[in-house]
Amino acid sequence: MSETGRSESSGRCLIGGRWVPPASGETLPVICPSDGRAFAEIASGGAADIDAAVKAARRARESGAWGRLPAFERGRLLMRLGEAILDHAEELAALESRDTGKPLRQGRADIRACARYFEYYGGAADKLHGDTIPFLEGYTAATFWEPHGVTAHIIPWNYPAQIFGRSVGAALAAGNACVLKPAEDACLSLLRIGELALETGLPEGALNIVPGLGEEAGAALAAHPGIDFISFTGSPETGTAVQAAAARNHVGCTLELGGKSPQILFADADLEAALPVVVAAIVQNAGQTCSAGSRVLIERGIYEEVTDRLAIRFRELVAGPHDRDLDLGALINRTQMERVRGYLEEARARGIPVLAEGRIAEDAPAGGYYVAPVLLGPVPPEERLACEEVFGPVLACLPFADEAEALAIANATPYGLVAGVWTRDGGRQLRMAHGIRAGQVFLNGYGAGGGIELPFGGVGRSGHGREKGFAGLYEFVRLKTVVWNHG
Ligand code: NAD
Repeated sequence: MSETGRSESSGRCLIGGRWVPPASGETLPVICPSDGRAFAEIASGGAADIDAAVKAARRARESGAWGRLPAFERGRLLMRLGEAILDHAEELAALESRDTGKPLRQGRADIRACARYFEYYGGAADKLHGDTIPFLEGYTAATFWEPHGVTAHIIPWNYPAQIFGRSVGAALAAGNACVLKPAEDACLSLLRIGELALETGLPEGALNIVPGLGEEAGAALAAHPGIDFISFTGSPETGTAVQAAAARNHVGCTLELGGKSPQILFADADLEAALPVVVAAIVQNAGQTCSAGSRVLIERGIYEEVTDRLAIRFRELVAGPHDRDLDLGALINRTQMERVRGYLEEARARGIPVLAEGRIAEDAPAGGYYVAPVLLGPVPPEERLACEEVFGPVLACLPFADEAEALAIANATPYGLVAGVWTRDGGRQLRMAHGIRAGQVFLNGYGAGGGIELPFGGVGRSGHGREKGFAGLYEFVRLKTVVWNHG
């Protein structure tokens, strides 16, 4: 794809191995968040395109080359795609960063992670072994892992390449044929990867991509009776609608939803190590990360010291255009910017102290969707800012008295995605790891994004099911039991 975002996939859908215009002939503009200007266009796909894509996927799986490939050859193709992604890493990173507004180095990290998912799952494709089961005399029983068939993938705009890699990479490795509905706000890197997939020999129909609006293409995909499994990443509200659609068709789904993840600092924590990580976990992607560390829980004895030190760092942070590669970029769109500003105005009106604010680069284009990072505290645990996902560069500081209160506050939101616990006390590390209601707990560390090998997912409002790691692969297969009566 050129700098202007024009390419073979411009305004088109990938269906059955060909780039075709959507049935409506309509396109959607692609806006760069750094300046608010349109620079490309994508197809505005709808129900007819989704239907064609699902049928193409079914053909690929049941009568096409894709369904006949041995697992190791499937894996080899995926690894080849991973290599092609790395070969085009600079081009893809520039595209991802312009499309999402994220700093270029984050775009680079995302593309490397995407390639790594194809490498990881490509290598795993021929390692899904079944079992034999001791059964009655004269019988042999065995289990086989089979792909679901046609899987649907609905993903958001915050990490298009990474989420595509972990979801579609795993589903393809397991032998499914995929229909992807990427986010209307950012999906250019995925269209380009779709081109690379064809160039590297992925059989037609194995991967189909229908860009379009959520309520049109997304809803049509979730409701399509030809889909055997849905992998959804996005907001809890849309996740509820997707799960309802899955239920109507009696198919399974994974929901990777939001979070309000805590970083918990005990008085014995190594602050030199912890504080940079605390800042990075909320500044990364301008806080638009499901696993952003958006709450920092601080033991009272070190509350002043920690907030003072965080404030120093926050005052230095600068938001600006993606290609300036500053601390953070713009938010994805105007709605998101206004939503985050709304949370900040409400917090101020409710008397929550602002401890520090970063700034927006003087030369940032006026049309960009910038919000300077903000540190607030103490935030009472029942405030919206302490419980709801802001999805912006806003860090809430909450003091706590002891381990029991830290755990109670950590578990007091409806979410449960990731947590970080900073303490040198080994017993406390384990007690907290067991007590925290979340899919991932980091002890003396934190991982927002990345971690290809680490099963990831939530509880409660953060969703259910696991992606990443080997556990992620098992979501895309189902178990068949075969019993021989051989006498
Ligand atoms: P969103 O739910 O609005 O959109 C996600 C996807 O769903 C998009 O492709 C959208 O077009 C589609 N969609 C919208 N309405 C639909 C409908 N009615 N039927 C089917 N599909 C529909 O979410 P968003 O605002 O784009 O993304 C932000 C959210 O995603 C945040 O809550 C964030 O925490 C979450 N997220 C979670 C993870 C995770 O792994 N847990 C990762 C990234 C983002």
